[in-house]
Amino acid sequence: MRIAVIGAGIGGLAVAVGLQADAHEVTVFERQSSPSAIGAGLTLFGNAFDALDVLGLGEAVRSISSGAIASMRSGQQDPSGKWLLTVPQGSMTGLRSVHRVELHQTLLAHLAPGSLHFGASALIAQDGSPRVSVDETMSDFDLVIVADGIRSRNRTLLGLDPGLHYAGYTAWRGVTNRPVDLRGEAGETWGHGQLFGIVPLPDDRVYWFGTLSTAPGITAANEHEQVCREFTGWHDPIQECLQATDAQAVLRHDIYDLAKPVSSLTRGRTVLLGDAAHAMTPNLGQGAGQALEDAATLVLLLRGNGAKEVPGVLARYESLRQRRTSELMRRSRTAGRLAQASNPLAVGLRNTALRLMPGIIMGTLSQRMQRWPRPGQ
Ligand SMILES: Cc1cc2nc3c(=O)[nH]c(=O)nc-3n(C[C@H](O)[C@H](O)[C@H](O)COP(=O)(O)OP(=O)(O)OC[C@H]3O[C@@H](n4cnc5c(N)ncnc54)[C@H](O)[C@@H]3O)c2cc1C
Repeated sequence: MRIAVIGAGIGGLAVAVGLQADAHEVTVFERQSSPSAIGAGLTLFGNAFDALDVLGLGEAVRSISSGAIASMRSGQQDPSGKWLLTVPQGSMTGLRSVHRVELHQTLLAHLAPGSLHFGASALIAQDGSPRVSVDETMSDFDLVIVADGIRSRNRTLLGLDPGLHYAGYTAWRGVTNRPVDLRGEAGETWGHGQLFGIVPLPDDRVYWFGTLSTAPGITAANEHEQVCREFTGWHDPIQECLQATDAQAVLRHDIYDLAKPVSSLTRGRTVLLGDAAHAMTPNLGQGAGQALEDAATLVLLLRGNGAKEVPGVLARYESLRQRRTSELMRRSRTAGRLAQASNPLAVGLRNTALRLMPGIIMGTLSQRMQRWPRPGQ
């Protein structure tokens, strides 16, 4: 089949690689003029690796990622370093972390040469017919996959845009430029309207993220200085991670998700995938994981089918993906509200609940989240 993919992010590249392995003729359109070279870290759970295995990418991504977090003490701490909850060892065995730029490069390296067009801002037909226009040149396909991210212009063209919702907080992210000794501990520290996360990467570098509940659209002249200030007095090795990060490499983004689930993931022979379909807050670490599940689901459903079967395949994709991703969007937003609580009473209640919650419950919830509902199961 002739298939167009709009957007060369994690979701678009992964689905393109999987479809090419099944001998489909795939063209990827990316509006940026070159491979994106920014990004910090990313955590991928077991479900993401199940999907990567189906796409033929599992081993390659395992080889550039770290599974160190699974053998460390992890969970939630308070800013003084006291543990509120420790996740039982064994419940995180599938969790691995990777540098985003390295993941991107690995996906690109698996793409068939000549199939990716940079500097190609692509728009689809509003009625969902499989037609793509780039610079006023129109091309016809059997199927168009829209993977153009949270601010998807094509989702709007299809009349499927529910709008964006500001999650109430901003996030700084970075990767240290040298090893930092984490003393066998990782995870998140929850304060009042703030959290800090620490994740080991390959080569003992550290991916960290810090959040702050605030109005959207605020930036600092020096984001590195600002994030160091916001987390002054928090337990070790938070300042050490910040000091080991190049100031110009600190990223800051206000956090948005979709205001509500899209009413449909498909229109005609066009289908939404990844953040274009279900952008969620990062609190469950599942955004990219769900993009990979979408990609693997679509590849499996299309396998052995021809252009005639596309409408039926898309109906099955919708029924498998809509419920799962809507549920994770909702849970991720709730987790974010809990983590970002700033009212002292709410924080006190939250911390008490975390202290009393058996870690096994957290472990069971995490394992359930990591179960990808594969086609045919
Ligand atoms: C702070 C933060 C932390 C996160 N941490 C995690 C994590 O730990 N684990 C996890 O699983 N997820 C995480 N996520 C979510 C994850 O980053 C996203 O879910 C994932 O990157 C989405 O990939 P995508 O391919 O759908 O979209 P994107 O990566 O946004 O890619 C979309 C691509 O489409 C291109 N494009 C846009 N419009 C057009 C057009 N008209 N024509 C052609 N190209 C176009 C864009 O240039 C871009 O390259 C996090 C997100 C944030 C904000």
